[in-house]
Amino acid sequence: MNTNAAKETSVKIIKAGKKLHEKGLIIGKSGNISVRIPGTETFLIKSSGSSMESLKPTQLVLVNFLGNKIRGDSRVSIETPMHSAIYRVRKDVQAIVHTHPPTATAFGIAKTEIRPLQIEHFMLLPNGVPVVPYQQPGSRELAVAVQKKIAICDAIVLENHGIVTVGSTLEAACNLNLIVEEAAKIQLLVKILDSKKTINLARAKEKFKIQNTLE
Ligand SMILES: [Zn+2]
Repeated sequence: MNTNAAKETSVKIIKAGKKLHEKGLIIGKSGNISVRIPGTETFLIKSSGSSMESLKPTQLVLVNFLGNKIRGDSRVSIETPMHSAIYRVRKDVQAIVHTHPPTATAFGIAKTEIRPLQIEHFMLLPNGVPVVPYQQPGSRELAVAVQKKIAICDAIVLENHGIVTVGSTLEAACNLNLIVEEAAKIQLLVKILDSKKTINLARAKEKFKIQNTLE
């Protein structure tokens, strides 16, 4: 493995962890980030029990696509099977971000899909943000359920848990996390203002079809 690539990836993860914490998407030791090491079937992932707010390079663990630890002194995250399952099914995905933002997580508890009701959100989330039924964190069942949904969506809500977003870069996966939380807030506000204006995904697709670029 290219050691420089791993070092560069570590720096990016540490920076992204701080940002997600500052934005209020994560508190304490929960949540997770992983990034594929370019050109390999391995990824760096935050270790179990470490905090995104103050991550150190020694708290990142190198894991292969089967979920086995390759290098690192810390314990692998409990959610490693979910991350490796995503990388196996999505060759295009370079980074995965899992957080517990309050509004989007509430949608998961209410078993309500988050829908992109604003044009730019729709462009990023054309298939919406479906809810993956509850499975024990860290279980094989959760990894399988997530793998099935993430094959067609870049963002999902885990029932009674949090959200997962993926991207072709770490920046894109982090940004999508913020977008999902923003979309959830907007959907909630629209429901409070006038629930009849909350359109379904089919109508959103019809309404936004003429748009194909973002500015
Ligand atoms: Zn979690």
